[in-house]
Amino acid sequence: MSKAHFGLIGLGVMGENLVLNAERNGFSSVVYNRTYSKTEEFLDGRGAGRRIQGAKDLQDFVEKLERPRRILMMIKAGSAIDAVIEKISPYLEDGDLLIDGGNSEFRDTERRVEQLEQKSFGFLGMGISGGSKGALEGPSMMPGGTKSSYDAIEELVSKMSAQVEDGPCVTYIGPGGSGHFVKTVHNGIEYGIEQILAEAYDLMRRVGGLNGSEMADVMARWNNSEELCSYLVEITEGCLRYKDPKDGSDLVERIMDKAGQKGTGLWTVVSALELGAPVPTIYAALNARVMSSIKRQRVEAESILGKTVVRPFHMGSVEDGMAPLMDAVTLACIASYAQGIELLKIGSDQYKYNLQMPSIAQIWKGGCIIRSRLLSRIQSAYRDCPDLPNLFIDPWFSEQLTRRLPGLTAVVAGGVKSGIPLPCLSSTLDYINSYRTGRLPQNLVQAMRDCFGSHTYERVDIDGTFHTDWLD
Ligand code: NAP
Repeated sequence: MSKAHFGLIGLGVMGENLVLNAERNGFSSVVYNRTYSKTEEFLDGRGAGRRIQGAKDLQDFVEKLERPRRILMMIKAGSAIDAVIEKISPYLEDGDLLIDGGNSEFRDTERRVEQLEQKSFGFLGMGISGGSKGALEGPSMMPGGTKSSYDAIEELVSKMSAQVEDGPCVTYIGPGGSGHFVKTVHNGIEYGIEQILAEAYDLMRRVGGLNGSEMADVMARWNNSEELCSYLVEITEGCLRYKDPKDGSDLVERIMDKAGQKGTGLWTVVSALELGAPVPTIYAALNARVMSSIKRQRVEAESILGKTVVRPFHMGSVEDGMAPLMDAVTLACIASYAQGIELLKIGSDQYKYNLQMPSIAQIWKGGCIIRSRLLSRIQSAYRDCPDLPNLFIDPWFSEQLTRRLPGLTAVVAGGVKSGIPLPCLSSTLDYINSYRTGRLPQNLVQAMRDCFGSHTYERVDIDGTFHTDWLD
């Protein structure tokens, strides 16, 4: 049998679908999985009758590939990646290329790029978004590493990725760990939007008294608008409409209210704190998942501290798409993107990644979990003004802010009066109000720091650094 063009390690949900995608696009493949029975199962099942060969061990796998070898690892992030690199390296030759398509921490990728290139191998850290369906039909791909390594897979990934009107949803992101850095922030934005939609659901259900089908109708209306048309709103409609086959009730109400996480949201927030980038909406989403996980304590506290008493307030009607709630959700979604993009810009300067915001917005327009119509606006905003300090400063987004701020304010105020937690919506309101306040009260914080620790302060009226003995 002739040598295969492309090799895949790891037949989990993502790996299986990606190799089928590559084969459908004309690239013969060879697959390896640590547990060989999975390889056999795949070759007898979904992989049968295709130009996909299996390999029992890594030496056999490497020998079945044409040179330079292009090998995509779709395995658990972390030490598994280092273990596979160590095991496969003795069989690789100069110029061969390893690609980590999992959700790896970008600093690990930075280290691996350096380590592998010293051995004359290429290494790319490629974030892949789109879930299992995206992996099969066309995901969004965010490859980072050396440009020559990217050039070796450009044809492959351009065909495998989702396609939008202005091209494939893949581009060379930049050097080192930039691809995984961008994927991490993508996931942080995703955390934000998911939590925002969960808060909207909570308000519609508890304040509005809507059932699953009515809430799904609201989502369908939102998904018809330029501002909220997105994959996440579309799937939220599907989840809210779904009935439990057991008794026809809304299945979502039967789901335990504890949200899991695998690390990328946490890494986004840690990076933001390290880099001094404000991401309050994204942080609130992460914290909301943490709060959700202490279920037993929350149930006990409800009986000790008293249940919140919901007071109805105006959120609009199903027919008008719950206009004030739509305002709130729109601004919070924009804030998630705005904060994520600011983090990318600060990270790009700090790590010398030279990230191009219009290209990143373009590759997020298709295939990925945060795809939305807003991304076309984001793409044009950064194309028109590459140094835009914040998305909300762009004329189209600032008009959205002015028009929708009363709705966001009313919804947060109503939620507060009802004791309904709205972490992302209220953080967004604080973020916007802080951002548009020329003078914040941190002058007093500086006075206190100088008072107890002689940390000094600057004055607004005289140049220089000052210290005062405040209590004398
Ligand atoms: P997964 O459950 O994260 O990983 C399963 C694969 O990893 C299996 O092939 C397993 O082999 C292999 N593996 C685990 N430890 C290993 C080790 N020490 N040495 C060699 N192989 C090892 O699979 P997944 O959901 O397809 O995800 C793959 C990667 O893509 C992950 O990094 C994930 O975070 C990322 N990702 C997932 C999604 C998604 O929607 N699922 C989306 C984007 C990115 P065995 O069969 O032998 O156990």
